[in-house]
Amino acid sequence: MTRLLPLFSVIFAFSFCAKAQDAIYCGFDIALQKLAERNPGFQSQCTEHYHNALRGMRERSDRASTVYEVPVVFHVVWNTDEQNVPDSVILNQMEILNQDYRRLNPDAVNTREEFLDVAADTEIEFVLATVDPEGNPTDGINRVETDRESFEFDIFSNDITVDEVKFSETGGSDAWDPANYMNIWVCNVTIAGGLGQIFGFAYPPSPEVPNWEGTFDAIEDDVQGVVVHYTTVGSNNPAGLDDNFEGNEGGRTLTHEVGHYLGLRHTWGDAFFNGCSADDGFIDTPNISASNNFTCDFELNTCEEDGDDLPDQGENYMDYNQDACLNMFTQEQADMMRFVLEEFRPELIDFEGVNVSEAESIAFEVYPNPVSDVLNVRCESSGWVTVIDLSGRRVVEQRVNTKADQVDVRTLPAGSYIVQFTSAAGSVATRIVKQ
Ligand SMILES: [Zn+2]
Repeated sequence: MTRLLPLFSVIFAFSFCAKAQDAIYCGFDIALQKLAERNPGFQSQCTEHYHNALRGMRERSDRASTVYEVPVVFHVVWNTDEQNVPDSVILNQMEILNQDYRRLNPDAVNTREEFLDVAADTEIEFVLATVDPEGNPTDGINRVETDRESFEFDIFSNDITVDEVKFSETGGSDAWDPANYMNIWVCNVTIAGGLGQIFGFAYPPSPEVPNWEGTFDAIEDDVQGVVVHYTTVGSNNPAGLDDNFEGNEGGRTLTHEVGHYLGLRHTWGDAFFNGCSADDGFIDTPNISASNNFTCDFELNTCEEDGDDLPDQGENYMDYNQDACLNMFTQEQADMMRFVLEEFRPELIDFEGVNVSEAESIAFEVYPNPVSDVLNVRCESSGWVTVIDLSGRRVVEQRVNTKADQVDVRTLPAGSYIVQFTSAAGSVATRIVKQ
């Protein structure tokens, strides 16, 4: 049974979420509270939406085995060289994100025995977009220089001011169509009033709001996406310690925030209810009363449960812990994220972001698929064939001068790749598996 707690204030949330005196790990709960205070009825709509999703997820008996592919664009909104994180860091971040979501992370071996049965491969992958909204080829990294030294997360008002990074007119970068791309903004995010920094923030899928009371402006489409502090990107970021905080240099702030973007809540509950009587809704995450608070303390067992009294699941990506101590999502969390993609963000997984709109008009064929050594290419004209790995790295670029050519892929590691063909007529892409 869930006990109703009064809505705690933004100020309390600050102390609750803070992992250090000068940093907030995640703005998700704070943003939901702001929205609730600004929009009467938001809390109940949001909660109802979440529980409907949980119900829908569980009623689905035929879990699809398709691996979903989500096109990603990084908007690097920079004012200093340190904020302008290099491509190598973004590619490294993409590898970490994909490893974590496919449970290919090397530290998966650290998941404790009592949670091995529920630790899950989400079967969701992320690829850097290869086509921009205008249909032009892109590497999925959009760099925008700004006059602004930072974008503030204002914890003292009900405005979500950090969203200014999502609009060019306020010094940021406009979202690429949020229906077709997962937008990630990388910038310097500070807490208003010189109170430090915030490391990540994402909105959940917006609840549907029939008969909304008053003026509804809860979550507009063009702010959907993820914001991360530039220091948290990748595990090879030369500016990783610029935030004066140790423990978030492993690239897992994005893993956590994408979890919110795909509908997950923190393991201790949500923005409105927390404590042992509250829950994140998942059966396979034990109730906990508070976050691990970056202690890597695996002795914690903050809530006593009937039956098997499991310890707190401090290794869950949706807890607050040091990156090196996080290593798993659960099966129900995976099911929820897939359900959210299918029901609330369906256009993300229909391959729009890695195809061009004129794709059907460009003849392009590759075979065999799966391939082990040589990929045969058939195309209607000369052009370029580019093979892109799941981190977005271009691993093969080859000029094709005839309508029938071959690309040697025998040196590529086994896995999934995007093969893009670009000619004067535009670009088209397809996916292959290298054995
Ligand atoms: Zn969070």
